[in-house]
Amino acid sequence: MTTRPRPSFPARLDRLAAPAARAAQTAPLAAGAAGAPVPAGRAPVRPQGLGLDSQAVRLAMVQKLAAQGLRDARVLEAMGRVERHRFVDTALATQAYEDTSLPIGLGQTISKPGVVARMAELLLAGHDQRRSEGRAERMGRVLEIGTGCGYQAAVLSLLVQEVYSVERLRGLHEKARENLRPLRLPNVHLLFGDGMLGYAQGAPYAGIIAAAGGEAVPQAWIDQLAVGGRLVAPVAAAGGGAQALMVIDRTAQGVQQHCLEAVHFVPLKSGIA
Ligand code: SAH
Repeated sequence: MTTRPRPSFPARLDRLAAPAARAAQTAPLAAGAAGAPVPAGRAPVRPQGLGLDSQAVRLAMVQKLAAQGLRDARVLEAMGRVERHRFVDTALATQAYEDTSLPIGLGQTISKPGVVARMAELLLAGHDQRRSEGRAERMGRVLEIGTGCGYQAAVLSLLVQEVYSVERLRGLHEKARENLRPLRLPNVHLLFGDGMLGYAQGAPYAGIIAAAGGEAVPQAWIDQLAVGGRLVAPVAAAGGGAQALMVIDRTAQGVQQHCLEAVHFVPLKSGIA
């Protein structure tokens, strides 16, 4: 086992970019930490001796995200608050704050923190652009396709008013439920179903974010996007297996589409299993 440099204690707040420093000062979103109640029957997963409960570990991750060019203070703060190590197997917990995707079972992965943050930033930027049109301070309802272990849903819950998150694999839908239960996030709604159909009952959405990439963006998602809403999704790039991040803005004049950087997501599949 290799030893990794640990952040020094106390963390040097003076060396941080301002948003990262603020993130460090915000309490983590955790049950079972520092006296918060844990529901009966569920022992908190507490890897011993790893320091993962320490805010400094997430602070180091947030610093790296800021160094990579993530600027949105709200996103950096949210990334600093959600304890990613609680969403992965104990055996992988030591890697939870590296910018890497990790297996979560059933052949799926938890997205890289850098990608989660980037997509959240793009989503909020779309909302901010239209704030002048009298929009609420906080983005409204957001639909997430691909709950996985529930990590991104937890991050989004700190940034938007309501999160509807759909998962097609029952095992992961249930795992996300377990992971999120102790966090008690009343604005997260977990749904079991085929997200390729969107979730019409919650529409229209101020934002839609997909954590799995298909050949094209399903028409249902565009139909369920509010006018003034933004969709962020990985989509297969022309030819080969490569994917690119796609941003689609629905305006009163129609749909505007931008293709951004290359990404690597698990495939978007139809049906439930
Ligand atoms: N946001 C997740 C990422 C999970 S990986 C996290 O933070 O961990 C993407 C997930 O998308 C997988 O769990 C996969 O099963 C799911 N998925 C793929 N196609 C889907 C579909 N049509 N509807 C709902 N979920 C889908």
